[in-house]
Amino acid sequence: MDYKAPSSIDEAVKLLAEAKGAARVLAGGTDLLVQIRAGLAKPPLVVDVKNIPELRKISIDSSGIHIGAAVSGAELGEHDGVKAAWPGVVEATELIGSTQIQGRASLGGNLCNASPAADSVPALVAASAVCLIAGPDGQRETAVEQITTGPGQTTLKNGEFVTEFRLPKKLPRSADAYLRFIPRTEMDIAVVGAGVYLTLDEKGVCQQARVALGAVAPTVLLVGDGSKAIVGSSLDDAALDKLEAAASAACNPIDDKRGTVEFRVGVAGVLAKRAALIAKQRAEVS
Ligand SMILES: Cc1cc2nc3c(=O)[nH]c(=O)nc-3n(C[C@H](O)[C@H](O)[C@H](O)COP(=O)(O)OP(=O)(O)OC[C@H]3O[C@@H](n4cnc5c(N)ncnc54)[C@H](O)[C@@H]3O)c2cc1C
Repeated sequence: MDYKAPSSIDEAVKLLAEAKGAARVLAGGTDLLVQIRAGLAKPPLVVDVKNIPELRKISIDSSGIHIGAAVSGAELGEHDGVKAAWPGVVEATELIGSTQIQGRASLGGNLCNASPAADSVPALVAASAVCLIAGPDGQRETAVEQITTGPGQTTLKNGEFVTEFRLPKKLPRSADAYLRFIPRTEMDIAVVGAGVYLTLDEKGVCQQARVALGAVAPTVLLVGDGSKAIVGSSLDDAALDKLEAAASAACNPIDDKRGTVEFRVGVAGVLAKRAALIAKQRAEVS
């Protein structure tokens, strides 16, 4: 296995595009190195992207927040601007692994590993995050929910990799939140994850919302009926009950040792409702 650590996006694209066989991008390595050691991945070339400055940067401008794809969870969690604007994205990222994992694990790796249970992804989808992708044909942008197509599968083409995540500018009286259920207090993968973003008007009526669920289908789900259930309401009990029902109805989960289908379907509704209430409380004071 060959290892390269380019210092520019162009160099990385060239290495990936010219590689013979399935080369892999390496960011924190907290998924990839585990897979290589277990013999599940045998890439002829690993391209470490952590030395590319654009992938390690967080910046804020008039359009919103730009987060380099290899920024670690710990770096994101210490950024006051991101925490203030998108607390749900930060709390989801900070749930990934332990202190040691936090120092390595990136948003790019969490998304492109394509686990249906990846914690940051429902929060990014609820936040309408967009990915910037570099490849042999130049740069393109795509919504985060367009990246994965199933466990371990992405829409990235040969030679392409994610360079940046873009979060929209935070609107007044808007906020996001993420909740997950795991069978123990930490260091486990989500049985269900729920991310909710919403905006309120002056009277507390929800103007727009996005609801996303993780670990209940082969990919993260954007639940359109969940948004419809709360938009136009002040998140009263009737609207929250509709949201709960919509979230549960959207699920198509597996049955495994962490949770049965019935349990996941039920928990998805409950978490969506609770995350919406947290987002509402945050929006009221933001
Ligand atoms: C002990 C432990 C606990 C964990 N707990 C959690 C948890 O609670 N929640 C959770 O969601 N995950 C968890 N994980 C999984 C893992 O830490 C995360 O998925 C992490 O975010 C992966 O990021 P990384 O930078 O380490 O990715 P890497 O391992 O470097 O890469 C992962 C995959 O993504 C690809 N990739 C990486 N970056 C890019 C890019 N920029 N563009 C295209 N492809 C890319 C790689 O080729 C590889 O296929 C845990 C892992 C461990 C070992």
